[in-house]
Amino acid sequence: LAATPSDDCPTIFDKIISKEIPSTVVYEDDKVLAFRDITPQGPVHILLIPKVRDGLTGLSKAEERHIDILGRLLYTAKLVAKQEGLAEGFRIVINDGPQGCQSVYHIHVHLIGGRQMNWPPG
Ligand code: 5GP
Repeated sequence: LAATPSDDCPTIFDKIISKEIPSTVVYEDDKVLAFRDITPQGPVHILLIPKVRDGLTGLSKAEERHIDILGRLLYTAKLVAKQEGLAEGFRIVINDGPQGCQSVYHIHVHLIGGRQMNWPPG
């Protein structure tokens, strides 16, 4: 079994939050940062992350105290989808763990759009 990093293990997203690593920010408030994915899977591909991880390395680590930030991430995804002009629809993805193809252990919501999506995913 592949180990999943613990909460004190920094990820690349910490450096994106602190702006040590540049990213194209499309939305920011005191709790959520949204920026363009460096390897876009569609004309629009944005990642939404909590600025404070608080143990939320992935969705499988969610506790009751995270309910507010989880709701904010999804609601902000809707706002950003509108801002990006995705009136025809979009895809929201949260990869979790090795089998879910998660590669960065700081929870993030993928917002993908601007092309026709397929279902079921691969
Ligand atoms: P995951 O596979 O964990 O669900 O998604 C991680 C995402 O982060 C990937 O889509 C990957 O392209 C994106 N990513 C990784 N490193 C960087 C980076 O330095 N900048 C940006 N903007 N995106 C990144």
